[in-house]
Amino acid sequence: MLIARTISEINSYRPRQQKYIIALVPTMGAIHQGHISLIERARKECDRVIVSIFVNPLQFSPTEDLAEYPRQLETDCELCEKLGVDLVFAPTPEVMGIAGDTSIQPLTTTVIPPVSMTSGLCGKYRPGHFQGVATIVTKLFNIIRPDRAYFGQKDAQQLAIIRRLVSDLNIPVKIVGCPIIRESSGLALSSRNQYLTAEEKEQGVNIYSSLKQAAIAFYQGEKLASKLTGIVKDNLTTVSEIETQYIELVDPKTLEPLENVESTGLLAVAVYLGNTRLIDNIILRQPIVAIDGPAGAGKSTVTRRVAEQLGLLYLDTGAMYRAVTWLVTNSNIDVNDEEKIADLVKGVKIDLIPSESSDLPVEVYVNGQEVTKPIRTPEVTANVSTIAAQSAVREELVTIQQSYGKKGGIIAEGRDIGTNVFPDAELKIFLTASPSERARRRLLDLQNQGYQNIDLGELEREIVERDAKDSTRAIDPLKKAHDAIEIMTDNLTIEAVINKIVQLYQRSFFI
Ligand code: C5P
Repeated sequence: MLIARTISEINSYRPRQQKYIIALVPTMGAIHQGHISLIERARKECDRVIVSIFVNPLQFSPTEDLAEYPRQLETDCELCEKLGVDLVFAPTPEVMGIAGDTSIQPLTTTVIPPVSMTSGLCGKYRPGHFQGVATIVTKLFNIIRPDRAYFGQKDAQQLAIIRRLVSDLNIPVKIVGCPIIRESSGLALSSRNQYLTAEEKEQGVNIYSSLKQAAIAFYQGEKLASKLTGIVKDNLTTVSEIETQYIELVDPKTLEPLENVESTGLLAVAVYLGNTRLIDNIILRQPIVAIDGPAGAGKSTVTRRVAEQLGLLYLDTGAMYRAVTWLVTNSNIDVNDEEKIADLVKGVKIDLIPSESSDLPVEVYVNGQEVTKPIRTPEVTANVSTIAAQSAVREELVTIQQSYGKKGGIIAEGRDIGTNVFPDAELKIFLTASPSERARRRLLDLQNQGYQNIDLGELEREIVERDAKDSTRAIDPLKKAHDAIEIMTDNLTIEAVINKIVQLYQRSFFI
């Protein structure tokens, strides 16, 4: 692992990486599990991972904890090395061109985000903070020129502002937001948690549980912002050591205050526990349910029917990979020709339209052409895992899948839904069954489609082979998410599985 202290070191490193996808994970050091999750995601998605470690003076006001902010460069670098980071950029304020007393007046050109995004939430109590963040992040983007940059949802206002910044200033970087990492108690991880005593840590648990109480009310139908923030307030006041700074409900993208949560809302709080300022937030939206599992475990039928019962949108992601596979074979492109397939899949249009009856699969259209039946042929089934393992295909399809989930209220099934497409899904299920049972079900399926003379043993071998391909591929392999609930369906009827999931949903959301 390289450690760069100066911009000229970056300038000699960067051009050698031209053909690679470069990730930047900007941090202020004191690396904890939250940062680690960003680094791991970057490692998984990119060829080169650069972590910047810089305690940015521009984002601290004179009364804040710049001097005391934890600095542990050596430990951080050791950790980064273990995580497979390629380069740590650890500049001094001089190198970043902002040395001097920045508290008086900024000594540098300053990037000023829209006032509507900085006047509320933390911006109200930390004047100049987001200008300091925006300025330094812009500089880091220009120095490193990453293809992607990873930020945590914990700093939700920062994430929204940076998304807006790169859009407004046409900075060619993709911003990737990652879910909040919490201690098992629910306390959101933060470098500032180091300041907390054991007692304060226990009191801090109340912050997230207050947000969750509001989320429960939201799931039960409460949409009024004043009521939802009131619930957080009432819960926070039960711990007298917590001094609330703000509780706000805003649009997650524009940060404008909301009176009602129509589709999604960002409910965010800042509190003081002793001298330590802590922030946390939760996105209010209709839940996302992730169903993953191997081929033939009954995912499609179960998911389709659960969607109907719960009034959720059903997203069959396997159908999307099948649609691309059909497109590839129909265009006479070799299934291993990754370059041609990458071109073919760029901007592909895939539409999934629910059928009239929940007994029928969704209607699938690729570039306007209906392919509902052709994507279920043995030829497509035999090739789909090869196509689904290709990074260009996954990138394109995962983006489409995530756009379906923007407003929540969906149930998606596939292989990487809980681990990759919607890692922050509110409910995750891993549906599985033994290979022989899955082969038996597939046989019935195919017979219903009119196929005859199918060999059950051959079918089982094919299923096992497809699972092996799906589970061992380099990108987003089939895997049970650590927080998924496993349902083994060998001895269960479809109805029993559906009831189980519906019950889990109702219990999770107190409906
Ligand atoms: O579920 P279905 O059998 O239709 O999925 C077809 C194939 O699509 C899977 O075997 C897998 O290779 C791929 N797939 C995937 N990721 C998903 C869904 C499906 O890789 N989320």
